[in-house]
Amino acid sequence: MLPYSEDWFTSWQPNVHSSLFINIYNFIIKHTNVHTIDAIIKSYKLYLEHIEINSLQRVLSLTRAWTLVRFLESKVLRVIPCTKCKGNFIVHSLEIHSNHVCGLCNIPSRAGKTKKKVA
Ligand SMILES: [Zn+2]
Repeated sequence: MLPYSEDWFTSWQPNVHSSLFINIYNFIIKHTNVHTIDAIIKSYKLYLEHIEINSLQRVLSLTRAWTLVRFLESKVLRVIPCTKCKGNFIVHSLEIHSNHVCGLCNIPSRAGKTKKKVA
């Protein structure tokens, strides 16, 4: 996997964090006059607040968040709802996701057992 491959955003833990970030970002884009890099920075601050309040490990870096927005704008990745929880999650654009179940509704057995550095 390349350092900034789109595949990173679809692996289990990064997908949960990236999806959280992009939901914040899309809310800001839709409901405020904040756009482009300002929206990314404000969304990232809210993401960090959420991580801190919930005592979670930071998985998404600001560079990754910026890269994620670029992947979505270029339609390499897209956001679709989970058929179980109705939350919005990041997926590859070219894959078929008619019955997508997110990583929180269908937690893989090895989820969270590897210790990865924040990149
Ligand atoms: Zn779900």
